Amino acid sequence: MSSPERVYSYSAVLMGSPILLKLFEDNPQAASAVFRLIKQLEDLLTVNREHSQLMAVNHAAGQQPVVVSRPVFELIRRAKTVSLMENSCFNLTIGPLVKRWKIGFRGDAVPPQAEIQSLLPLTRPEQVILDPQTCAVFLTQVGMEIDLGAIAKGYIADRVRDLLLQMDIHHALINLGGNVLTLGAPQHGHQTAWGIGLQKPFAAPDALIGTIEVAGKSVVTSGVYERYFERDGKLYHHILDPKTGYPLDNELLSVTVISDDSIDGDIYTTLLYGMGVEKSLRYLTTVPHIEAIFVTRTGQVILSSQRQFRFTLQDNDYHLV
Ligand code: FAD
Ligand code: MG
Ligand code: MG
Repeated sequence: MSSPERVYSYSAVLMGSPILLKLFEDNPQAASAVFRLIKQLEDLLTVNREHSQLMAVNHAAGQQPVVVSRPVFELIRRAKTVSLMENSCFNLTIGPLVKRWKIGFRGDAVPPQAEIQSLLPLTRPEQVILDPQTCAVFLTQVGMEIDLGAIAKGYIADRVRDLLLQMDIHHALINLGGNVLTLGAPQHGHQTAWGIGLQKPFAAPDALIGTIEVAGKSVVTSGVYERYFERDGKLYHHILDPKTGYPLDNELLSVTVISDDSIDGDIYTTLLYGMGVEKSLRYLTTVPHIEAIFVTRTGQVILSSQRQFRFTLQDNDYHLV
């Protein structure tokens, strides 16, 4: 029999990421249903295999529109809207550059500058033509590719939450490899919040800068240390600057966003990463439901505000400012 004091952990590897589900009941059927859902969505949205709804759109670039399912259409529409925001570094058409750099995949290398220049004209979000009537998506130039790597895990985490609630599960944690979504508080004695580790950059995976306490919130982190390679003493990470085609270069090592919905967390980690600390802090005063933790190269930990979470620093190499 399951006891409410016990945590039941279920894991899988999907989307090239370790997936962890924590429940307070012994419920392998629920875990299977969650992993099945993630797999189904991965199969629609992946660009790491030849066949998916998204790859069908990419393969037809410059040729014809492709009809996708309503949820895939809406996700592309959201990604396009965010990409077209003023000064947005989020770009859903970053695909050709992601494929060329291969950061985090076998064969990663610094492409010749001329090649990067030649790919930049293929990364124009306004050239993603959407027909809401038919859910058709058309990329106007041959060679264009949509990549939803900066938003899809957040979207999928939210769908997992919907499924858990449908199954009458109200206390759970799902971690999609850096995208954590909590339902309610842990059912552990009198605990009122989950403790989520803020990973220490370039250290062992269990080394933490500190702990974020939340209940019923999403906690998403984007960091330069997640996927990168080093050449000639320089670090190349996976968040690319759509203006230059090179990895974004600023004072940040990571951005963590605390929000209700994980899709917002995923979008904002990328957006704020591109803005840097100063601009982000100013910007966040206009979006009160989004809060962030910035970790800088000089060891600073900066919090935008702390209404939805508590943060405790644990590592002496870092200091709160
Ligand atoms: P974030 O920091 O949120 O975003 C970075 C990612 O977004 C980059 O990896 C790139 O894909 C994209 N990106 C880079 N620059 C920009 C930009 N300026 N604007 C918008 N997007 C940008 N990994 C594997 O190793 N193997 C797999 O088989 C695999 N399959 C996947 C299938 C799916 C459906 C998804 C969603 C991801 C998969 N991944 C896989 C992981 C994927 O390749 C990315 O590394 C991952 O999504 C990055 O997540 P993040 O939260 O760390 O990134
Ligand atoms: Mg991430
Ligand atoms: Mg993101």
